[in-house]
Amino acid sequence: MDFKVPFHRRSFLHGAGVVFGTIVSWTRLLASPGRHSDTAFVPVQPVKIRGFGETGDAYKELGVTTVINGQGTMTMLGGSLIPPEVEQVMAEAARRFVYIPDLEVAAGKRIAQLLKLPEGYTGLVTSGAAGAMTCGYAGVLTGDNDELIRRLPDLTGMKSEVIIQKAHRYGFDHAIRATGVKLIEIETIEDLKKAISPRTAMMHFTNFQNSEGQIKLDEWVRLAREYHLPCFNDAAADTPPVSHLWDYVKMGYDMVAFSGGKAMRGPQCAGLLLGREEMIRCAMLNNSPFEDTVGRGQKIGKEEIVGMVKALELYLNQDHEALSAMWQRRLDSINAQLNKFPGVGTSYYVPEIANHVPTMQVRWDAMKIRLTPEQAHEELKNSNPSIILGTTDNGLEITSFMLQPGQDVMIAEALVKLFRKHRA
Ligand SMILES: *Cc1c(COP(=O)(O)O)cnc(C)c1O
Repeated sequence: MDFKVPFHRRSFLHGAGVVFGTIVSWTRLLASPGRHSDTAFVPVQPVKIRGFGETGDAYKELGVTTVINGQGTMTMLGGSLIPPEVEQVMAEAARRFVYIPDLEVAAGKRIAQLLKLPEGYTGLVTSGAAGAMTCGYAGVLTGDNDELIRRLPDLTGMKSEVIIQKAHRYGFDHAIRATGVKLIEIETIEDLKKAISPRTAMMHFTNFQNSEGQIKLDEWVRLAREYHLPCFNDAAADTPPVSHLWDYVKMGYDMVAFSGGKAMRGPQCAGLLLGREEMIRCAMLNNSPFEDTVGRGQKIGKEEIVGMVKALELYLNQDHEALSAMWQRRLDSINAQLNKFPGVGTSYYVPEIANHVPTMQVRWDAMKIRLTPEQAHEELKNSNPSIILGTTDNGLEITSFMLQPGQDVMIAEALVKLFRKHRA
């Protein structure tokens, strides 16, 4: 990829005496493009800690309760837990300096290889899927025009609208609006045709809302092609299945966002933006480490970039069927205990999209157990150990993919105790 960067990046080029807005080859900014050189490598060794952290339980030292997570990959609860291999490569990455844009380009290439993305596509490790949306949209608005990059979110002289289906509006569209664009809501194909104007920058698809909108996933990308507009798919929580990591790009989406800190078990502050090389290049120019960009606040560190690559590799090499079977077995073991309790019923389902993992719903007869779902949630949260489960209109919801070994037993015990306590 021919990477170019606006030359005014003052933080490291101050005094270069180059006219504002001049574009130079990206590689000219790098000390040794493409060449690997080692600074002294210090392998990670465990050290004896004194003071904060010396007990080996930093959370406890702070007086913060850790929780058993039977709800799923919730950012509020810390996302997911990184595997030890990811932990180790992150610790190694923390020991030396690298030029971050170099690292980003190289990591993006490795990610594209791992995913076997088509020619002309690459990846960018971002601070998360939301961060991927902000810099991805910013890049489409500004291109690599340095002045426009600095101007965002003031869109004077730029395209300023993004088309989205009404049913696809969601909390995370704030990450799109952060670029300054206005979201134009539509429902039908007729609406879409009317909404398209010279102001239209892009068409946004919210993957988990596929069944809610009138225009479906494949139709959306077809329409985008027809009207010569780029389109974006937010598939943040939409692995498993693992194939979703390449499906949408192959379907024709120009950019796709995934969370790194959800089912892929990458660093919590990481995500993937996959897309056309030119768009990814412009996304990066609108992101940290570059100053005076809309994305500077969503910094991604060398540790997270390297950790994300490792997490992705591990995730791709996993036996996904065996994992799913293990998650189901854990739910079965909880179910076996709950079934013995009069008035409690359970059922299983797998969400069609987003958190596509075995999920168990627990309901109870309100005449036999006097407890609302909210009360149940609060009592479990405040119990010891603290347990977090999802709530539904008439009960609780459990996923087991974020559980540690043995925690299924603890959840079953806590639920039985809770139901016993509230037995009418
Ligand atoms: C979690 C999520 C996001 C945000 O992802 P982060 O990686 O936490 O930034 C965006 N969109 C959807 C649909 C999500 O589920």
